[in-house]
Amino acid sequence: MVNSIKDNLERIREEIRRAAEGCGRREEDILLVAVTKTRTIDEIKTAASLGVVSVGENRVQELAEKRALWPEGGSLQWRLIGHLQRNKARRALAVAGTVDSLDSPQLASALSRIAAEEDRKIPVLIEVNTSGEASKHGVKPEEAAGFLEWTLENCPSLTPEGFMTIGPLGGDEREVRRAFALLRSIGGEARARTGLALPELSMGMSGDFAWAIGEGSTMVRIGSSIFGPRG
Ligand SMILES: *Cc1c(COP(=O)(O)O)cnc(C)c1O
Repeated sequence: MVNSIKDNLERIREEIRRAAEGCGRREEDILLVAVTKTRTIDEIKTAASLGVVSVGENRVQELAEKRALWPEGGSLQWRLIGHLQRNKARRALAVAGTVDSLDSPQLASALSRIAAEEDRKIPVLIEVNTSGEASKHGVKPEEAAGFLEWTLENCPSLTPEGFMTIGPLGGDEREVRRAFALLRSIGGEARARTGLALPELSMGMSGDFAWAIGEGSTMVRIGSSIFGPRG
């Protein structure tokens, strides 16, 4: 297990480096988020020992169980990358350092109110449904700028850092890149409108991260290529 994770991480870092180089970017500007849903604590420890600094989980319950087993004081960053129900906002904030899947004003309000009570500021990404697939969460592309501005005005304890999307599943290169390019243009317009840095574009998974880097991704979320297929 340790060796395969090590080999996989080496291969992925090399692919990230090559994809970045291929479009004149620097590999340091792309964060590798290891997606650890369904993985054991030992697998996560192995990844952390091999230099992984950021992990993504998509369920609050599973994230909470893992954090309860995780040694205190570790510096691993735990990101929530899956749809969050408003009634789980408090539980989520007890265990997640960021919410990368902000997708409604109701959720944003709940998170901001709880963060204010706890005297915290929570970094968030706005999830955009760039492919239009009905099964996907996220706001519509044309609503993203308005939602960002609403959040900035109404949710003082949230710090929007950019946008997140999931590429069309099983799409061909053109279709997938079109979705990622759309997120990049949403980010660019939002920066121009707000004057904020909004540096992050979280896009790219095991099957499409090289294309995502070509389209400007700053954060790739990779699970199965690191840990093997999920059961
Ligand atoms: C599971 C998941 C990933 C990782 O998918 P892989 O194909 O295993 O790399 C990335 N992002 C989100 C939101 C996920 O739920």
